[in-house]
Amino acid sequence: MIIAEGVDKYYGKLHALKDVTTEVHRGEVVVIVGPSGSGKSTFLRTLNQLEKIQNGKLVVDGIDMYAKDTNINKLRENVGMVFQNFNLFPHKTALENVMLSPRIVAKRDKKEVEEHSRELMYKVGLAERMDNYPSQLSGGQMQRVAIARALAMRPDIMLFDEPTSALDPEMVGEVLDVMKGLAAEGMTMVVVTHEMGFAREVADRVLFMEDGALLVDEKPEAFFDN
Ligand code: ADP
Ligand code: ADP
Repeated sequence: MIIAEGVDKYYGKLHALKDVTTEVHRGEVVVIVGPSGSGKSTFLRTLNQLEKIQNGKLVVDGIDMYAKDTNINKLRENVGMVFQNFNLFPHKTALENVMLSPRIVAKRDKKEVEEHSRELMYKVGLAERMDNYPSQLSGGQMQRVAIARALAMRPDIMLFDEPTSALDPEMVGEVLDVMKGLAAEGMTMVVVTHEMGFAREVADRVLFMEDGALLVDEKPEAFFDN
C-alpha cells in the first residue's frame, strides 16, 4: 500500500527526512515512534503530500506520487488523516462534519452519504451526539468525530498524527479503542504516537525515527524486547 524509497525532505537547510526507506502492506498497522522533532509527522505528511519530498520515491495506494500525470486530489481521497487537534468545523454539527467531504469533495448522493455517516457515528460510539456542535463535545468525542469524518471518504489507508496527544488522559482510551477496532477490521494504518501500549498491542511493525532517519523497523515483540 505504501512504498517509500530513499526519501529526503528538506525545510530550507534542515534535513528533516534522511534517506527513508520502508514499505507498508495492505492491512498492516505501522506505528512510528521517536523523539520530538525526529521527523515522524513530516514523514506521515509526505504520504498524502501535505509535504513534498526532494529526493526518492513514494508510491501510495498504487499511485506514484511524483509521476507526471498523478492526480494528488484523487490520492488524498483514498488516504484519510486524523490530526492531533481534530480540525473540525466549529459551525457544523458532528454529523455535518462527517458528511462534508463525501458531499463536497466526492459529490456523492446526499441520502447515501447521510446513511453512511450515521453508521460511522454509531461505529465510533457517538450515535447520541450526531447533532452536537464540536464545542459541546469532549476532546475524546471530537477526535472520534474526526476519525468518522476521515472514514466517510471510504479510504484505503488511514494516517494518524499523534491522535491522543491533545487529550486529557481519561479520554485517550476511548480513541485508542476506536483505532483498535479499525485495525481489527483490517484497515491499513500508519500511526505516529507516544502510546507505547498501543504500539505493543496493535502494531504489526514499529518504526523508530531519530534526527530524520529511520533507524529501526521491526515487529513490536523485537522492538520492546530491547
Ligand atoms: P516529529 O513529528 O518527530 O516531532 P516533525 O516532523 O514535526 O518531527 O519535525 C521534524 C523537524 O522538521 C523538526 O526539526 C521541525 O522543527 C522541523 N519542521 C517541521 N515542520 C516544519 C516546517 N513546516 N518548516 C520548517 N521546519 C519544520
Ligand atoms: P508535531 O511535532 O506534533 O508535528 P510541531 O510543533 O513540530 O508539532 O509542529 C506544529 C506545526 O508547526 C506543523 O505544521 C509543523 O509543520 C510546523 N513547524 C514545526 N517546526 C517548524 C519550524 N521550525 N518552522 C516552521 N514551521 C514549523
